[in-house]
Amino acid sequence: MTFQKSIRFYDTKTGSQRRFEPINPEVVSIYSCGPTVYNFAHIGNFRNFVFVDVLRRTLKLFGYDVRHVRNVTDVDDKIIRIAQENNESIKDVSSRYEEAFFEDCKYLRLEDVEYNPRATDHIDGMIDLVKRLIEKGYTYEKDGSIYFKVDKFTDYGKLSGIDLSAVRTGARVDSDEYSKEDARDFVLWKGRRNDEPYWDSDFGQGRPGWHLECSAMSRHYLGDTFDIHTGAEDLVFPHHENEIAQSEAANGREYVRYWLHCAFLNMKDQKMSKSLGNIITAKKLRDDGVNGLAVRYFLLSVHYRKPLAFSYESIDSAVTAVTRLQTFFTRIKDLADNREADDRTDFEDKLNKYKNEWFEALADDLNTAKALGSLFELVREANSLMDRQMIGWRQATAILDFLSMADSVLDVMQSDSDSGLNQEIEDLVNCRNEARKARNFEEADRIRDQLKKMGIIIEDTREGVRWRKI
Ligand SMILES: [Zn+2]
Repeated sequence: MTFQKSIRFYDTKTGSQRRFEPINPEVVSIYSCGPTVYNFAHIGNFRNFVFVDVLRRTLKLFGYDVRHVRNVTDVDDKIIRIAQENNESIKDVSSRYEEAFFEDCKYLRLEDVEYNPRATDHIDGMIDLVKRLIEKGYTYEKDGSIYFKVDKFTDYGKLSGIDLSAVRTGARVDSDEYSKEDARDFVLWKGRRNDEPYWDSDFGQGRPGWHLECSAMSRHYLGDTFDIHTGAEDLVFPHHENEIAQSEAANGREYVRYWLHCAFLNMKDQKMSKSLGNIITAKKLRDDGVNGLAVRYFLLSVHYRKPLAFSYESIDSAVTAVTRLQTFFTRIKDLADNREADDRTDFEDKLNKYKNEWFEALADDLNTAKALGSLFELVREANSLMDRQMIGWRQATAILDFLSMADSVLDVMQSDSDSGLNQEIEDLVNCRNEARKARNFEEADRIRDQLKKMGIIIEDTREGVRWRKI
């Protein structure tokens, strides 16, 4: 089922919510700045990636296909520094952290995106982009490096609304460790230095600047203009401003139609960041056995542009919330399977109201907080009706359909570790039901004992057979 309501996104460029209309009405093109693989990603980074996951799943729920690119930056000053310190190759360093990143993605149930290009596999596209910028007169060379002349691109600053006069006074704009003529300019191609990795090009040996990577890779997979570009809020300036300048100067077309930025995750009142030393990596939570679904839930429980602070108490609350949803899901599923339970009240209008609220909240710039609020109201109301045996299998089936749809975005209601075991348990429970129907009580008791040995208690309730862990 798809919902025909139109989605609205808050677009950083216009500073307002806009109705979403993709270039191709069926397939939405998305580019997300991915990780720089020089260390383990922290859960502040993952607030942004979970937001992106909710975005793509919501678009799919609303009937779109997605063509989504999330790059891996595998050549960068920090990677090079770490490789030199450890006496490793940059590939050793980047592979190690790239692998960890994808494990973290699994831990947090991030859907695979369609393309995960590595920067080092797209050097040709980057060289081509620099060449076209040189031909159009947007660049200059200094000490073997090629810089973008910001003065020449009159639209510079249109995304962030940055006051360029403040920048001109010499504020540090870019963390690149290179000299340039104007503080606002940024490096496109870094001239070869000592024993750093390098590639050959018409304009000399060197390596790409970070901003250049995203412009080249997005063009390769999505073309000159695409629908949605995402990133954490600290990328608006200078990174995304520079991407726009490079791409629009070289291609002569609008680069991106909707810019979506995710707020930071805070530790107390400060942004969680490696430079402040207050990070918690996803890997640490994973190694400590913290429930990944609860971490996912915690990260999506607040609207992506609103402040959110990490604490272990918040994770505990998320565990409670996820458990509540999972228990409800199981209860509804059991009831839907019990063909003897008849409906004794009409829940259809109520369910439609909850469905509407769910879709409306997501259509409203992915307001997951509002969507969850309405979902929990449904849980409360349906639980109370089920306590009084008012809901039967038909309405339970309709509720289950809705829950599955909601979970296609949330993905917290069924745990991975449970799914294999659950299947085995459910198969045994079904065998026991069959045996009972056939009045083979000996076999039914044997299965009950077998389940007990597995730590599972069977309960014959008015809503049918249910099981729970001891
Ligand atoms: Zn980027």
